[in-house]
Amino acid sequence: MTIFKKIIDKEIPADIVYEDDLCLAFNDINPQAPTHVLLIPKKVIASMAEVEKAEQDLLGFLMVKAAEIAKAAGLSEDGYRLVVNTRENAGQEVPHLHIHILGGRKFSWPPG
Ligand code: AMP
Repeated sequence: MTIFKKIIDKEIPADIVYEDDLCLAFNDINPQAPTHVLLIPKKVIASMAEVEKAEQDLLGFLMVKAAEIAKAAGLSEDGYRLVVNTRENAGQEVPHLHIHILGGRKFSWPPG
């Protein structure tokens, strides 16, 4: 069981900023920007590499929710970055699909 599943099950605490039946959003414990929220589905999906067509509604829902959370955090006007690290080459540490919502500073491109 991953640490994110334990957060979903309320076995360990997190600084939750949004929750509904399908998803949970909480502040990253090691923020890389003034705003750094993680948005996760409550359904256990290890990474984007495990996503199937049956998940298209859920993933669409998460993207809309990410935009709503970013807007609520005041990030929409200046902009923000969404990141979904996938498996080893992207440095994914927690094998539970998550969207990083990063904002409050400028980001460089290309990413490191
Ligand atoms: P990734 O490298 O894309 O798998 O990102 C995992 C993220 O989870 C990192 O940014 C960590 O700082 C964050 N993280 C790990 N454990 C926790 C936790 N208990 N609460 C909040 N964020 C966490």
